[in-house]
Amino acid sequence: MTLLQISKLDRSFETGKGVTKALEQIDLNVNQGEFITVIGPSGCGKSTLLKIIAGLDTSHEGSVLLDNQKVSGPSIDKGFIFQEPRLFPWLTVEKNIAANLPVKENATQGRVRELINLVRLEGFENAYPKELSGGMAQRVSIARALLRNPKVLLLDEPFGALDAFTRSHMQEVLLDIWQKNRTTMIFVTHDIDEAIYLASRVVIMNPRPGTIREVIPIELNHP
Ligand code: ADP
Ligand code: ADP
Repeated sequence: MTLLQISKLDRSFETGKGVTKALEQIDLNVNQGEFITVIGPSGCGKSTLLKIIAGLDTSHEGSVLLDNQKVSGPSIDKGFIFQEPRLFPWLTVEKNIAANLPVKENATQGRVRELINLVRLEGFENAYPKELSGGMAQRVSIARALLRNPKVLLLDEPFGALDAFTRSHMQEVLLDIWQKNRTTMIFVTHDIDEAIYLASRVVIMNPRPGTIREVIPIELNHP
């Protein structure tokens, strides 16, 4: 089933120095359950593409459909993970995970417990962000994004600031989540090894900014 349909997507930025075409005539379809990694050099438009899918950037032309509905703004069914965790420093791990829910706390307890186990943070429920390592903090933001079972998880170089050991642990955690939940993933990175290791399909963005050169399907080789 096609979950995301992008066609003829254009995005330009006007600055004092002129117009930058960040994305030009992008077409991309993503099926439910795929793990897409998007690679390309710095400045080729990866972040812009992800923000448009997230509904965080709506100043574009062309069509972006998620589950056959036009993306018109951010919503709970599109989880977004930034390079920096962006947690609330005054809330515990548990409360950070539940922070986006306007419902009564006890209604979410079971779900929060489940997510803490999924991202391997047992024992840290009551810790504050400043007590966590970078990898742990990023796992909290992943749990928070998963709270209401989003249709898609959008990750913008989420492990870029982490050391190699932590990054490889985070990759295992993310693959585990993907295998258990079958959440559709769109993961931006400029690390080609990471892109190939994680993906069920790699999308390569052209060195010429804002175009997709090639989409290479790769056999699923995860257990
Ligand atoms: P990447 O994520 O691949 O590094 P970006 O999507 O951040 O690339 O940027 C793509 C192009 O659009 C770059 O030329 C960048 O400078 C430009 N760009 C991105 N955001 C803005 C902005 N808010 N204002 C002006 N130019 C921007
Ligand atoms: P990333 O590595 O995630 O692409 P960047 O450092 O390229 O991050 O961009 C960080 C933020 O700055 C992004 O939100 C992007 O939209 C914005 N940005 C990128 N290029 C420009 C630019 N030339 N002018 C203004 N904002 C920009």
